[in-house]
Amino acid sequence: MNLSKVKNSISNLELSAKRKLGSVKLIAVSKVQPNEKIKVVLEEGHRCFGENRVQEALGKWPGFRSNYDNIELHLIGPLQTNKARQAFELFNVIQTLDRVKLAKSFASLAQEKGSCPELFIQVNTGEEPQKAGIFPEQLDSFIKECRSMDLPIEGLMCIPPIDEEPSLHFSLLKKLQERNDVNSLSMGMSSDFETAIAFGATHVRIGSAIFGERIPTP
Ligand SMILES: *Cc1c(COP(=O)(O)O)cnc(C)c1O
Repeated sequence: MNLSKVKNSISNLELSAKRKLGSVKLIAVSKVQPNEKIKVVLEEGHRCFGENRVQEALGKWPGFRSNYDNIELHLIGPLQTNKARQAFELFNVIQTLDRVKLAKSFASLAQEKGSCPELFIQVNTGEEPQKAGIFPEQLDSFIKECRSMDLPIEGLMCIPPIDEEPSLHFSLLKKLQERNDVNSLSMGMSSDFETAIAFGATHVRIGSAIFGERIPTP
């Protein structure tokens, strides 16, 4: 697949799910991809990208931003508190808020700067010990705590366990969204975005279907 095929397929899915055309945002996940491939996608007019590491993103996006307008950058990987400031300054959207310590650090950065990236809370729907994210039963109180710090909680994000039916996790995230009255749902990757859209995804994060397989990092 490539960018236009993915975009077509998203439009078709929006229609078949009786969703508004254009209601699903495509985040092109460019982690580990060579700059030449990212440039091709930028030249095709796409402006919304996802990266999972702050350091890697700092190495490429300030350069692209000086050549292309209106780039919207999403952080989709775990964030260490000591990189919170860099992430806050680089990303338009941070999708991996997953603990109180990080929320507090965003709150003080927001106070200092007078603005804040859009925030998504990562939910560990499969309760996997090796995976980041708030457990579902702790989410309601975490959201309350974030809201009490005036943080702009825009949505929820999840990465289902690789060996389970993703629809179970997408429907759980949808339920958590409705219960907590948040706007957006970031769910669905190359292998399962069709299902995610049927279950109400507003943001899909797609890497390999656009750029091709990632070269594995050693
Ligand atoms: C890498 C990554 C993706 C994209 O995965 P593909 O299978 O290449 O589409 C989506 N979300 C997160 C959090 C990722 O780390």
